[in-house]
Amino acid sequence: MPIRLTEHGIRPSDIDRDARRVLSRLYDFGFQAYLVGGSVRDLLLDRTPKDFDVATSARPNEVRRLFRRCRLIGRRFRLAHVLGEGGKIIETATFRAKPPSDGDVLLITDDNKFGTPDSDAHRRDFTINALFFDLARSEVIDYVGGLEDLERRVLRTIGEPVVRFREDPVRMLRAVKFAARLDFGLEGALRRAILSERGELKKAAVPRLYEEMRRLLWNGSARRGFELLDELRLLEVLLPELSGFLGRPADDPWHPLGPLLDALDSRFEDPDQPPPDGLMFAVLMWPLFQALVGALEGPVPAADERALAEAVLEPVARRLGVPRRTQETLLRVIEGQRRFRRAKHDRQLRGLARDPDYASIVAFAEMRTEAGDLDPEVADAWSDFTDEHEPPPLERKRGRRRRRRSGKGSGRGGRSGGRRRR
Ligand code: ATP
Ligand code: MG
Repeated sequence: MPIRLTEHGIRPSDIDRDARRVLSRLYDFGFQAYLVGGSVRDLLLDRTPKDFDVATSARPNEVRRLFRRCRLIGRRFRLAHVLGEGGKIIETATFRAKPPSDGDVLLITDDNKFGTPDSDAHRRDFTINALFFDLARSEVIDYVGGLEDLERRVLRTIGEPVVRFREDPVRMLRAVKFAARLDFGLEGALRRAILSERGELKKAAVPRLYEEMRRLLWNGSARRGFELLDELRLLEVLLPELSGFLGRPADDPWHPLGPLLDALDSRFEDPDQPPPDGLMFAVLMWPLFQALVGALEGPVPAADERALAEAVLEPVARRLGVPRRTQETLLRVIEGQRRFRRAKHDRQLRGLARDPDYASIVAFAEMRTEAGDLDPEVADAWSDFTDEHEPPPLERKRGRRRRRRSGKGSGRGGRSGGRRRR
């Protein structure tokens, strides 16, 4: 594939200052360095990138010597995290080599681990994610036909989709995420490969599955993402419990999955303000819980509700690796809905307002109102109550993030050089 240098709309000022500083310093010391991956794609689409990654000819140790605030992470593949303002991380990785093919020696040395811009581009997942931006020359470099796919708005794997999905089944979920978020079509062979290889997802590492599911839910395009999962029959593998829920009519009182996903999308569009994970995953569990409660004869005693909610959640949490802390919030969000309905005394409701996940409980009640899942009188009672007991701002719990930082050294969104496969 020829390299294409193009007229593009990227202005240096669109690029994060710290990322520019990293690129310039690498150039100054004679290394090749490019902006790569999602940031180039997003800039070309006129979207605000979430993070800025750099690929360079400098080896990890060389990068470390150039930047004062820098640390190396990753075990199999070392890469550098250069720290910018406010704890921001510019992930700076040395160009990767082509993966060794079967006949090659197994021993990995530094010489066969690192490669060229071309080999690095070919290890990436989709053509639109493999564009390089050369800041010094203000040029986009395209080794894989990504520019054309961006123009046509199609998602295409680099190389054979069946092979690329077998190498790393999580790429199937990433395909859905990008198609939903960017409103791109899926190239025919990619679509067929998902249908044939979807069972491979069972082999994927659960923390990565969880991370991609999280990102599907928090994109402002969760509804579209779940429709695609359903259409591509990935839901059958990941969440068979929910297969068929999306197709139900909007006025079906027990199954508001589609409208709840819409409510999530309209509320959490800002990629810098991710909602608490427990609140997002409650959207998936609530319809299942409601369906279970609805199928039981007679009212559910309060004492049994928690056990019922846990029974709904348990197989899903195991399959998708939902962290304990997220499960706790999720269960409290579900319980909170029922507690509000049940409360007979002010005292009980005041207890609800002191719940550590009160903000999520209220946000969920509001989303249910928007989704037409709450009787108008109950919705009014909620708003009277929250006028009096204003919830604190919603924020994503930081515990998990902090732990990850000190562990595998991952940045925002939980990316980890060690775990991510290319
Ligand atoms: P987002 O906006 O969600 O961060 P992104 O494209 O930046 O999207 P990341 O997960 O941050 O995605 O990864 C950065 C880049 O690394 C991608 O653009 C892609 O080139 C490459 N990459 C990430 N995951 C994989 C994978 N599983 N296989 C191959 N390449 C990958
Ligand atoms: Mg990214």
